[in-house]
Amino acid sequence: MAILYKLSASNPISHFVEIEMHITNIDSSEVTFQLPSWRPGRYEIANFARNLRKWKAYNNKNEVLAFRKINKDNWSVSTDGANELIIKYEYYCAQLDAGACWVDDEQIYINPVHCFMFIPERIHEECVLELSIPSNYRIASSLQKSGEKRLLAEDFDELVDSPFIASPTLQVKSYEAGEVNFSIAIQGDSQPDWLRILADFKAFSEKQIEIMGSFPVEDYIFLVQVLPNRFYHGVEHLRSTVLALGPGSQLMNDALYTDFIGVASHELFHAWNIKTIRPIEMMPYDYTKENYSQLGYVYEGVTTYYGDQILARADVYSIDQFFVELNIRLQKHFDNPGRFNMSVADSSFDTWLDGYVPECLEEKHPSTTKEV
Ligand SMILES: [Zn+2]
Repeated sequence: MAILYKLSASNPISHFVEIEMHITNIDSSEVTFQLPSWRPGRYEIANFARNLRKWKAYNNKNEVLAFRKINKDNWSVSTDGANELIIKYEYYCAQLDAGACWVDDEQIYINPVHCFMFIPERIHEECVLELSIPSNYRIASSLQKSGEKRLLAEDFDELVDSPFIASPTLQVKSYEAGEVNFSIAIQGDSQPDWLRILADFKAFSEKQIEIMGSFPVEDYIFLVQVLPNRFYHGVEHLRSTVLALGPGSQLMNDALYTDFIGVASHELFHAWNIKTIRPIEMMPYDYTKENYSQLGYVYEGVTTYYGDQILARADVYSIDQFFVELNIRLQKHFDNPGRFNMSVADSSFDTWLDGYVPECLEEKHPSTTKEV
């Protein structure tokens, strides 16, 4: 039996969503529920549990069950003989970037790793996600659809690696490259030049697949949040990526469009480098604690280099443009005194401590780990 998750947003302008988790076949007196402590893509401990309220457990007669908290993101329920459990809580979705959750009266945008729980011994079970959304909302996600508002994931790993946007204003276009179906879904105010975007995305996608020999999955979607303010952020997943860029009025201007194509190529390369080819310490991901690795310079550094280099090889960047980008990265490295303090390998390990804080990067870390 699959684990069923339900999500609704009865008052979207409050930024809260209501979440339910339905579990059957319970055969123990205690069941533990874990919220992830971090998300793949950002290698530091997060604090997702702070956004959660009104956590309650019920049996299938809707009777409240006793529970106790084990630690900040771990709950233990006394089942009292119930073989079905329903967990209900609310989650605050008010961070609009490429890796978090945002809900308002225009869209529901969720990175499930923030807000969905798992039962450790049942983490491999299939997951069903039911969304309670208005009928004019369209869903953009890499998850398999089963009906209008139902999504399927083969296990918790796939569920939390699959962000989604539901909105009435999504703009979606598709293209094919190397026998893979690609889609681009843009949310937010902008006037995309689709002809140019589709041609450029197809060119770098084909070049990446040609160089790597094949693509790890059959479908892939670029989820693009276009924001009114200046913004640049990207987060990789196996079958998708989220890019957050702004301001939307400048999306097709040279500077922002160069960033758009650059971050898109970078994140696509991650489909191999970190999602498929991954440090053994992260196989499988342990969502409860730090997953240390000294290989950040491989999964980020190599991706950064190839993301841009392939854009040049695909004629999306000119050679001059590529060397400008490369020069910016080299200059940043040479200007950073952190390179005299520790190796890039040790710096990779320490991202869990302070790898994403610019002030610390200046002095301590040799590699800048701005998250892309
Ligand atoms: Zn990256």
